[in-house]
Amino acid sequence: MKLRVLVLGAGFGGLELSSILSDQIGNDLDLTLIDQNDSFYFGFSKLDIMFGRKHADAVKISYNNIKKPGVRFCKETITAIDPIKKIVTTATGSYEADFMVIALGANYDIDATPGLAACGNEYYSFQGAQKLREVIPAFTKGNAIIGVCGAPFKCPPAPSEAALMLHDHLTAAGFRDACTISLVIPFGSPIPPSPDSSKALVKAFEERKITFIPQRKVSSLDATKRAAILDDGTEMPFDLFLGIPKHIAPDVVLKSGMTENGWIPVDRANLLTKFPNVYAIGDITSVGTPKAGVFAEGAAKIAAASIVAAFKGQVNNDPYTGAGSCYIEFGKGEVGRVDVDFFSGPKPFGIHHGASVTLAADKEHFGTSRKARWFGIV
Ligand SMILES: Cc1cc2nc3c(=O)[nH]c(=O)nc-3n(C[C@H](O)[C@H](O)[C@H](O)COP(=O)(O)OP(=O)(O)OC[C@H]3O[C@@H](n4cnc5c(N)ncnc54)[C@H](O)[C@@H]3O)c2cc1C
Repeated sequence: MKLRVLVLGAGFGGLELSSILSDQIGNDLDLTLIDQNDSFYFGFSKLDIMFGRKHADAVKISYNNIKKPGVRFCKETITAIDPIKKIVTTATGSYEADFMVIALGANYDIDATPGLAACGNEYYSFQGAQKLREVIPAFTKGNAIIGVCGAPFKCPPAPSEAALMLHDHLTAAGFRDACTISLVIPFGSPIPPSPDSSKALVKAFEERKITFIPQRKVSSLDATKRAAILDDGTEMPFDLFLGIPKHIAPDVVLKSGMTENGWIPVDRANLLTKFPNVYAIGDITSVGTPKAGVFAEGAAKIAAASIVAAFKGQVNNDPYTGAGSCYIEFGKGEVGRVDVDFFSGPKPFGIHHGASVTLAADKEHFGTSRKARWFGIV
């Protein structure tokens, strides 16, 4: 009997899990990987797109490249999930399996922040980042705000990265002296588990005259005053607003009855949901790690190990440690890295690696190695 697996979502988590199961089970696997899109892109490529470093077509990787034993990719939109029967309905059909893995990521609730759609911008969606390619070059004087509108949000370093990259862009364009840059985030420091990474970022902000406003989030934008209203009532006038919108689980997941407080709860050790043989990995969960690709990937490894073990009549005893390395764009072509571990010790801790061009090359390798592993592109 083949192992029937349904993987919902072909992002970081879904691709990693499908690749591992194919490598380990091969032709005894009958895995259906479903995604509404026809191509994958890394979250960090949105920064490259918004600042014109790369073209949109250059960062997209077609799912047609997936040619793995036992894996079938279906480009379909999932409309219903039955976690009890392990049946998934799409716009064109339905699928059933022995194991189901939910890896549908997080969506954005733009309307949760009044005024954001009318007079702000966001760079967390692909379309938002693409639109900014036109908007950012037109900003030549006044106040820029990079503002977080809700937590949790993907890739906690990304707001800091956008601020540093905007500084570089304005400096190169000759407009930096005519502009201010402010960064509003809801944490006390840029990367709470790593005091050293936070210190390095705060120093970089000071050196570049970027105003850092911790412990605050943006509640709304006033289109008439062109001002961001923070959660303590402070008004900050802006000429350019780059927002991190409030995140929300995809509608189909919310309707499935699997969520509690907005996200899918899982057993931290093995990523199992409360439904037998149904796993959830990555941004869609409330597992306790940040919403980032590296953590989705780490969770995929453990969920895959559990599924392989179950197929072989065994049990996987390696728990998920919530460990991963995040790269941080510091500008000037340099990248830093923070190695974070959320579950191994009594509290989360991070080790900082200072920004360098060597780590910029490491980040490049991070992308190309995933392209090779998931799509066979070398
Ligand atoms: C600006 C920015 C920078 C980032 N930088 C980094 C970084 O440097 N390092 C890092 O690790 N992470 C980074 N991230 C975060 C990272 O992109 C996400 O955390 C990661 O992609 C989550 O993986 P996932 O598998 O949980 O979900 P995703 O990768 O989001 O995949 C979910 C998939 O589900 C599909 N889907 C959703 N709903 C449906 C439906 N109804 N039907 C069919 N398909 C559906 C989507 O199309 C998507 O392909 C960044 C994010 C942003 C926005």
